[in-house]
Amino acid sequence: MQHRALGRTKASVPVIGQGTWAMESQPDASIAALRRGLELGLTHIDTAEMYGAGKVEELVGRAVRGRRDEVYLVSKVLPSNATYDGTLRACERSLKRLGTERLDLYLLHWRDRLPLEPAIRAFEKLEGDGRIRAWGVSNFDVADLEEALSIAGSGRIACNQVLYHVKERAIEHAVIPWCERHGVAVVGYSPFGEGDFPGPESAGGRALAEVARRRGATPRQVALAFLIRRDSLFAIPKASRIEHVEENAGAAGLRLDDEEVAILDRTLPRGAARQLPML
Ligand code: NAP
Repeated sequence: MQHRALGRTKASVPVIGQGTWAMESQPDASIAALRRGLELGLTHIDTAEMYGAGKVEELVGRAVRGRRDEVYLVSKVLPSNATYDGTLRACERSLKRLGTERLDLYLLHWRDRLPLEPAIRAFEKLEGDGRIRAWGVSNFDVADLEEALSIAGSGRIACNQVLYHVKERAIEHAVIPWCERHGVAVVGYSPFGEGDFPGPESAGGRALAEVARRRGATPRQVALAFLIRRDSLFAIPKASRIEHVEENAGAAGLRLDDEEVAILDRTLPRGAARQLPML
């Protein structure tokens, strides 16, 4: 499994991780899939207090029991809880559900209209107390990133977790360049478009299949390799089926060359600059 340093944290994190959204609908299959992923080195697990209203964190806690030290465990606080005290309390609830003493990374799930300073102060307190190892943000466009930077100071925001798949490349215009300038990792969520993966009849699907054939890989592995092609990038596909986890893990060793990237670029273009989309 290929690893890289996640932003300023310098933690060595696998380039392909495991998402957990909606896993509460199939808890046993999801736990088995997460465990298979851990065996294959997909040790970056992304969850949130929002998922299944806490049920997914409980399920993740069961999946990582006995293996916590292998895992890079990430959770998120809801904006509606992200006052100073609310963030501290939400973190304690997440830790309890996850059955752990600390999170490796704790994120503000999205911006909403809340003031950022209290949440950032709470993140710094949690980090100082050892309850989290680092903190970051999610669904932040450049203006929000600038504001967070002005409050926290440089070198504090570990990552920005944002929507990124082959049919939705808006972050390439401004968000990725900003994050790279400031040493902030970019964790791409919904890498398969949450069910909107290019089918074999589409031009994009045919391009993915062509590159896949050349490399003895699958179209989804090629898509994942495309999404982690820069040193700042990570991807967190969600899979509740073991065969999906195994396929996704197979993408970690695949490095596309310039010609292959150009083929995908032509058929799945990034489009015009636009506001950061969010699921
Ligand atoms: P996704 O990873 O793009 O797609 C998940 C879907 O793809 C599932 O139906 C899964 O099926 C299927 N799948 C996975 N691997 C496959 C494979 N190799 N072949 C065929 N199908 C495959 O969608 P997502 O869950 O929206 O995003 C991933 C994670 O990002 C989430 O789970 C969550 O942790 C995070 N996220 C964060 C935010 C945020 O606001 N920060 C928003 C959305 C998502 P099975 O489950 O049946 O295997």
